[in-house]
Parts: sequence; structure tokens; C-alpha cells
Amino acid sequence: MFKGIKLELEAEEKEFISLDGQSRICNWLYNHLLEMANKHKEIFVETQDTNAAKIVYSKRGLRNLLPDMKKELPFLKSVHSSPLKNTALRVSAAIQEHQKGKKGKRKNKSGWPQFRSWKKSWFSLFYDEPNKGWKLEKDFLIISLVMGCYLKFHIKEASILKNKKLRNLRIIRQAGHYYAIFTVENNLPQQKPIRKVIAFDPNHKNMAYGVDCAGNSIEIAAPYWLKRYDKRIDEIKSKRDHCQKKAKKLIDEKSGKEYFIPSKRWQKYNKTLEIALHKRREQTKVFMFTISNDLCREYDCVGVGDYTPQGGGCTIKMRRAMNNRSLIGRFKEIMAWTAKRSGKLYIEYDEKGTTRTCNYCGYKVEDGLSPSIRKWECPVCKATHIRDENAAQNGLKKVLRELPTKSETSVSLVPGSGLDFIKNRWAWRVLPSGVEKHLRGKDCIQLQASGN
Ligand SMILES: [Zn+2]
Repeated sequence: MFKGIKLELEAEEKEFISLDGQSRICNWLYNHLLEMANKHKEIFVETQDTNAAKIVYSKRGLRNLLPDMKKELPFLKSVHSSPLKNTALRVSAAIQEHQKGKKGKRKNKSGWPQFRSWKKSWFSLFYDEPNKGWKLEKDFLIISLVMGCYLKFHIKEASILKNKKLRNLRIIRQAGHYYAIFTVENNLPQQKPIRKVIAFDPNHKNMAYGVDCAGNSIEIAAPYWLKRYDKRIDEIKSKRDHCQKKAKKLIDEKSGKEYFIPSKRWQKYNKTLEIALHKRREQTKVFMFTISNDLCREYDCVGVGDYTPQGGGCTIKMRRAMNNRSLIGRFKEIMAWTAKRSGKLYIEYDEKGTTRTCNYCGYKVEDGLSPSIRKWECPVCKATHIRDENAAQNGLKKVLRELPTKSETSVSLVPGSGLDFIKNRWAWRVLPSGVEKHLRGKDCIQLQASGN
């Protein structure tokens, strides 16, 4: 369920000196609490005082002394409360282990805890909860000190932590090097053996066009309702922008600076706009998860091309292309995550040249194919290609080539599979109820070519 990942920390020396300071304080606290435990143990032996016993022998007795100690000893506050608390719990745990040994509940007896020397061994800092006293920012580990101060360390090979759910953190020093040990939840399934593979060519005509090893092609329609949303969003925006954004001039009492507030109507339209945008995002998410889940049920490996159309510009046509780009970006993210969650493999392949290359004979159309060409004939082998299908077939070749290195499990494609002529052409339309799959007739090339 859980596993520890140990990664080295890198930073300037002064950061590590501060970290040593944190460790020293915790070491001091450990010894101080142990001393108090020893005193209360004596009291208990002499007087049978149950309060003294609670402090020494209960799980949290020593930790409960911390708030008052912090008032008396302000320097303790320079360490985040999480490692302080865990230092106290550590003393109590050591005492409890000793007690268990004494009562025969533990195989090996352990002695009463000893005072610790910081010089002999660096006192580890333990943060038992995610984001309490520490957080990750890209490849950096941020450790909170007091009053908004923090230490920043670069984590070597931080990419290992990507998409992992982090439970807690322990910082240690070993042989002069500093390490962070992250406990991560490890409940993602093992990758399943790969038998069925599909590759998609994402583009702006449909959302994506896929080809699998068994002679099926799948054209996934772009979300048709998105246009409706965009139209509505444009309308609201235009109405809002006809209202006054700087309706009322006010003066800030403190700074004496002028500022403006929008009219009531502007605010009303703006709120409506926010709701519409939120709905659009949510619907898009459902759309993506529906497709991804369906693909993961059907296939063991899903490849998607690394589509990056030229953006920029602000004509309506351009903006639509850009919308589609973010749509495909979102699809890839959700596809990758869904695959991981279901023990399937996701591969992003290099799309360069896939559209202009004939997948039968390898001939390359010199200046590429203009986007308006939906169907073309290879001048060398005379094969007729549906533009996106041919691109996806080339994509599939690339994915199959990458499979042996990218897969963590065995690859044994279903018998008789391989790059073949397409036998069945499917059209997928995602509805709120699920994916509607429609098998196209033999004349589909015609329909395709006319650009429906
Ligand atoms: Zn050809």
C-alpha cells in the first residue's frame, strides 16, 4: 500500500546550516522531554501519582506538554509544530516499546530510552501530514520555518514523485548528504500485459482519429455541444462588455488612490459568464473521462500524437483551433491518468511526418498536405488514403516501435494482429449517457471525403 521514496536534496550551504539548526532543536527537545519523563517516572514511583504516570507512559503525555513549553522557550517556535510534535511522540513511543518489552509483549527487550547526541547522529525531522510544514513546488521542497520564512531545496529526480499521493516526509542526513524520504500511496495497479493497441491522431477536424491493430478505425467526434456553449459565452461576453466596467469612481481612504467599480448590470453578466464557463469546463471533463474510460476498457495501450498546432492570432477561426488545442491537451492529461489508474499504458508519440507519409510505401508528400485535403492518393503506390486515418496508421507504427522500451510488462499482441487494411470504421459520439458507437458503411470514404 505504501512505499518510501528516498531522494537527495540540493541547495546552497546556508540552507543546510539552517536545516541542521532545525535538527539540533528537535534533538534538544528530545533530550529535554526525556529528562522530564525521567523526573515524572520518579514521582510516580514515589507517590503513585496518576497524572505523572499519564505524562510518562501515555502515547501523547509528553506531546501535551509542548504548548506550555513553547511559551516558556520561544526558540522552539523556530521549528514548525509538526516535527516538534513528532519529536515528543518519538520519546513516548520509545518508552512504550520499553514497557512492552518489560511485560513480555515484545520479542526483543529494549532499554529505557537514552539521551541522544546530535554530533553522533543527526536528528531526523519527521512531518507526518501532507502539506503541514512542507510542500512541493515543482522540483523543490519547501520547509516552513517561523512567520512565513522557509527553506528551499532542489529535489534530485523529483519526477519520480509525479502523480504520486504523498503521505508524509522524513528528512535525514547520511554521510554528509541530505535526503527526503517521502511515503507515497502505492495503490495504482500493476501494468497489465499488452495485447490490444490503438494509436490516435488528434486534429482539428474531429477530436481524434484512431487505428488499432485489429483493423478498426475510430473517429471520435469533437464535442458538438461545445459550439453551443461558445456561442452562448460570446453572447454573454458581448452583453457584459456593453455595460460600464468603470461605472463608479471611488477613493481609497488609506492610500487616497482612485479606483472604479463596475455597474450592477456588468456584475450580473459577469457572474452569468463565470457560471457558463464553469459548466463548459465540467462538461468537457465528463466528455474526456467517458472516452478515456471506454478506451481503457477496450485497449491495453493507447498512443496519442503530440499535436501542437500553430497558435496565436485572434480571428474566430484561430480561436476555435486554439480551443481545440486545449481540448486535446486536456484529453491527453485525462487519458494518461485514466490509463495509469487502470493499469494500462499511455504513450505520446512524435507526430512529425505522420500526415504526409504514405503508410503503405513510405512515400513522403514533399510540402505536406494542405489542411483542406481530407483524402488523397499516393502517387507511388496509388493507395487511397483518408488523411487522418493514414496519419493514425503511421502513429500506430511508431507506438508499436516504442512499445518494447516503454512497457513494464510483457507485450504479446493478439494473434494475427499487425498493421492491416482497415476493415471496420467506427464513429464515436460522446453523449451524457455514454459513448454512441456507430459502424460506418462501405461508402464511408466518400462521406469522409465530402467533409460531412
Ligand atoms: Zn504509397
